Amino acid sequence: MFQQKIHLRLLLTSLTAGGIIVTCLLLMGALFLFQKSSIEESLIESNIAYAQKLADTTDRYLRTAQQELAWSASQIKTLSDVIHLARESDRLRLQSGFFNTVVVVNRDAVIAATSPESIKLVGVRLNSVASRQSIDTKKPFISPPFTSATGNYVIFISQPLFTPEGNYLGYIGGTIYLKKQSMLSDILSQHFLNREAVVSIVSNEGLIIFSHDPSKTGERMDLPASLQKRLAETQNGRFSTESDGHKLLIGYANLRTTGWNIFMAGTTETVSAILMHSVRNTVWFIIGILALTSGVMALLAGRIALPLERLAAMVREGGSSASAESVRGVKAWYYEADCLAEAVRDHRRAVSGHIAVMNDEAMTDPLTGLYNRRGFNMMADRVRDSSEQCIIAIDIDHFKNINDTFGHDAGDVVLVSLAALLIEACRPTDTVSRFGGEEFILLLPRMSLSDGAATAERIRLAVSAAHFPGVGQMTVSAGVAVFGGQDGARDDGLRRADEALYQAKRAGRNHVSVNDTSTVIIPSSEEG
Ligand code: GH3
Ligand code: MG
Ligand code: MG
Repeated sequence: MFQQKIHLRLLLTSLTAGGIIVTCLLLMGALFLFQKSSIEESLIESNIAYAQKLADTTDRYLRTAQQELAWSASQIKTLSDVIHLARESDRLRLQSGFFNTVVVVNRDAVIAATSPESIKLVGVRLNSVASRQSIDTKKPFISPPFTSATGNYVIFISQPLFTPEGNYLGYIGGTIYLKKQSMLSDILSQHFLNREAVVSIVSNEGLIIFSHDPSKTGERMDLPASLQKRLAETQNGRFSTESDGHKLLIGYANLRTTGWNIFMAGTTETVSAILMHSVRNTVWFIIGILALTSGVMALLAGRIALPLERLAAMVREGGSSASAESVRGVKAWYYEADCLAEAVRDHRRAVSGHIAVMNDEAMTDPLTGLYNRRGFNMMADRVRDSSEQCIIAIDIDHFKNINDTFGHDAGDVVLVSLAALLIEACRPTDTVSRFGGEEFILLLPRMSLSDGAATAERIRLAVSAAHFPGVGQMTVSAGVAVFGGQDGARDDGLRRADEALYQAKRAGRNHVSVNDTSTVIIPSSEEG
């Protein structure tokens, strides 16, 4: 029954482990709830910071490209020296490395020189909007993206050409490929593409000017008007949008030179991946803590359970004999175990008290307080002496008459009074007992038959002389016998004392009869 129930050690260990698991699950839940938004926040913050950095770099790149063009423009005083134009174009393209192609164009939009020469466009009139705008404004110019005469998707940067007198000659311009490798793509890739974000350069209208994914370049993003307005008005910021079923968290920053925006887009999958990573780490951490705590708790639970187990074993095996010392030996080091040990000690005391009382009751005659037959035997057993012992059997004469005449209660009083008289007449080492009815047995250790007979006679005389309340006079008869200390002799002694008593009755009562080989009847001095 007890074995089937859970043990305290296991219970405490399980409770601790369970508590930790529940706490950790709640913590993980909280982590998911709160960390997610904070990871999203920091991801988007870093996207903004990266976008700003890229914007600054790209700005610097475009400005440097313009300066390179301006330097070349300053070296061109006339368009008639075709060799010089070609050389300057090559130098610009190869030395600076900014441009994929370089062209020198006259005021009529006809190409005067190109680099590389292989594109074979000298003499071709350019009809692109970018070219026309360059000529119309006669100012440094950066075009929006368009498809060039060679079929490449490009942006175009130009610088006007003037004679020393200030006459407009045309322009020198460089194209930067947007879908193929260029210095722009190199800068954006090498320096900033070490994270899972997708980088694009997007015009305020949402046209993708450049992307690391060339297939996206030239596409138009569907940006709401309010966002387009915000992109145009702010230096940097954030927004989120949906793309191919993914939620994108985008940080953007504005290019000062062109007004375009750098978009750094991270997906919510990135957030989930970061989150899962930290959850995985947390789980390992928790498993470690759990193993450690469970181990410590198992040890502790053992120490908690030990005093209870020992007390239980003590009560079960030792019962009332579990001594106060052994209970005290149990290290009840905490309050409840101490209470239990105290209770066991109290219970043990109470039980042993009860047993003593019960023993007492079992050994004594409730009316007279004398030993009963069991008490007599117990006391007789204690006499370890092998010397002669005397037994006197005493019986009230005509006690039935006393009961009949004076009532049963008066008879009881007589029994009590006689008991007191017998105790008075005996030595402290003698055993006075009532075997039932009105028969008393005295055990007198180390006493000879003659001394026993004399004692019996002394008692007989004392009784006959005594006044018993409510009854008055009465007499007793006695039988005396002796026995040695050997086993079985006591019962024989009792039997012979009883026989002697019988003889005393037959002799007319108020007599003492002695049982020995020559039965002697001591004549009564006060025959009644
Ligand atoms: P005898 O002289 O032969 O001993 O005669 P007796 O009347 O004393 O003996 P008997 O055995 O005839 O009667 C004993 C009586 O003792 C009978 C019973 O009612 C009475 N008796 C036994 N036990 C008690 C007791 O505890 N209290 C009282 N009041 N009477 C008792
Ligand atoms: Mg009698
Ligand atoms: Mg009798």
